Amino acid sequence: MKVLVTGGAGFIGSHTVVELLSEQHETLILDNYRNSSPEAVRRVRELSNGRVTAQEADILDTQNLSCIFAEFQPDAVIHFAGLKAVGESTMNPLLYYRQNIEGAISLLEAMDRNGCSDIVFSSSATVYGEPDYLPLDEAHPLRPANPYGKTKYFIEEMLRDWCAADKHKSAIALRYFNPVGAHASGRIGEDPNGIPNNLMPFISQVAVGKRERLKIFGNDYDTHDGTGVRDYIHVVDLARAHVAAVNALVRIDGFEPVNLGTGQGYSVLDVLHAFEKASGRTIAHAFAPRRPGDVAASYADPTRARQLLGWKAELGLDEMCISSWNWQRQNPDGYAGS
Ligand code: NAD
Ligand code: UDP
Repeated sequence: MKVLVTGGAGFIGSHTVVELLSEQHETLILDNYRNSSPEAVRRVRELSNGRVTAQEADILDTQNLSCIFAEFQPDAVIHFAGLKAVGESTMNPLLYYRQNIEGAISLLEAMDRNGCSDIVFSSSATVYGEPDYLPLDEAHPLRPANPYGKTKYFIEEMLRDWCAADKHKSAIALRYFNPVGAHASGRIGEDPNGIPNNLMPFISQVAVGKRERLKIFGNDYDTHDGTGVRDYIHVVDLARAHVAAVNALVRIDGFEPVNLGTGQGYSVLDVLHAFEKASGRTIAHAFAPRRPGDVAASYADPTRARQLLGWKAELGLDEMCISSWNWQRQNPDGYAGS
């Protein structure tokens, strides 16, 4: 199939393109490099024997998008492009509504103009908000607690309506839990700007000597060791789920939300200890107050992904930590160091 990948130079997009190419899909990356680097594309090319095409473009530019669609004629789209920082979205909500919602509308319009009716969308487990029960299944009520999560929720609703208006349209919204890890080669990985907000890149930067110590936000949660529990999923597993979703689009009509997680929750201390084992380094840490907006525990019921996509996560916490460390060690300054 011909697959257009918006945001394909980013963390999850770059890993997905590698997996798409290994399954013989033809891909075109479309990215404005707002939160990524052309170096990531160069490395995807290196991992894929040069078969990658990429175009610098902004998804908000519908006119240009439409020309790109007319030329490439994709069978399906995977839509990663967007902004993803929860804290920034709370401080600047209109930026997030403009970029994420208007970006999605622009993309769907370009698809409509060019007869492309299949899309896989990057949603997030943040659409669930504070859990009523665990594990979270797709029927759990949706009440996102911040503007970023709301953009994911609104885009899901938009996709639902877009599909309802035309029975030939298909949209799969993949609700990611906590993507971590890197490609086994250590050539592509997560390259956050400035101080990382997320746990795994922060731990990696402590291990490599870029940050002094990890602050653990809260040790008084009702969890097995008092620290927050999350469902970490290896980015390569996640990438393979996108290939499975693209393949499933031909047999699915309408809108389908699907959780992507392992179903297994790990605490902050579990991750820290696994990373120490993987790296052979001690991770300095200190307990700090809870981070506002954090929940005690969140993990997926991944049954739907198995039923609908024939996919399940294969890689465990040790592989997540080993690959994160391998990437961090080889690229202490991310792509900027090359
Ligand atoms: P990322 O920032 O690494 O990748 C997003 C890519 O989109 C970047 O390359 C960026 O330059 C590009 N982009 C942004 N705005 C654009 C625009 N207007 N036009 C063209 N390109 C644009 O993020 P990621 O971690 O790879 O996440 C990919 C998607 O998955 C995002 O939509 C994110 O919200 C979602 N998601 C991520 C996580 C996570 O923890 N990483 C969790 C849940 C959902
Ligand atoms: N966390 C932490 N210190 C950090 C970053 C995160 O203790 O510097 C904790 C956080 O409170 C949560 C878990 O690690 O319990 C995962 O946080 P992350 O930001 O990676 O993901 P999310 O909050 O989106 O689940």
